[in-house]
Amino acid sequence: MPVAASRFEIAYRALRQAILEQELKPGARLPEDEIGAPFGISRTLVRQALQRLHADGLVELGGKRTATVARPTVEEARDVFRVRRALEREALRILAEDWRPEIGAALEGHLRAERKAMEARDDRAGVRLAWEFHLLIAELTGNGLMEAWIGQLVVRCSLILAVHGRPHAAECSVNEHAAVLEALRRGDPEEAARLMDHHLHLVEDRALAPEAEAAPDLGALLARYADELDTPRAPPLRRSRAD
Ligand SMILES: [Zn+2]
Repeated sequence: MPVAASRFEIAYRALRQAILEQELKPGARLPEDEIGAPFGISRTLVRQALQRLHADGLVELGGKRTATVARPTVEEARDVFRVRRALEREALRILAEDWRPEIGAALEGHLRAERKAMEARDDRAGVRLAWEFHLLIAELTGNGLMEAWIGQLVVRCSLILAVHGRPHAAECSVNEHAAVLEALRRGDPEEAARLMDHHLHLVEDRALAPEAEAAPDLGALLARYADELDTPRAPPLRRSRAD
């Protein structure tokens, strides 16, 4: 059996992964004893794992030791996407500075897996692979800090989509990912950064749009109907019938 420290690490990563894959939903309760059992770790270590997830913005810690999966607000969501765009643009510039064929091959292989999951309609793998494209870019920069921070922001985005987007959606488009890679291959880092920025704007819009649709401005909507119905149109119709 692994030592306690690595079992703690496994528990932390497992919870993070379950949130990334949207298997653990926003608001889900995370009781200490139930979490500890599968990993064979003490409540103290469970609490530490939950505190670390709280620092990542993924878990809310309530009173009486009740932890739940976080529910990011729209304002938080916009802040997270903004920082993520800045970091991912920079990550692409780093990749371009030190471009090697292996980087292209790794990203190309990943895109193939994404396409395969899409064709097989495997939603769970599709969501995971879509996020992992971004994690792979971060990893390939070889900058540990970049990797850790983008990793944290990507998981937070997954949570944002679980709250505000469609169920089991990464809202990433494989074609948009492919366009980023294509620009990198052409040796055009600024275009790759622009395309990534655009892609993440689209992901954000797709994630946050449903809520806007769900809550229309009822007054304005009904006023439009009132205006339309108030406009007399009946007479010409009646006249034509009488003819
Ligand atoms: Zn994407």
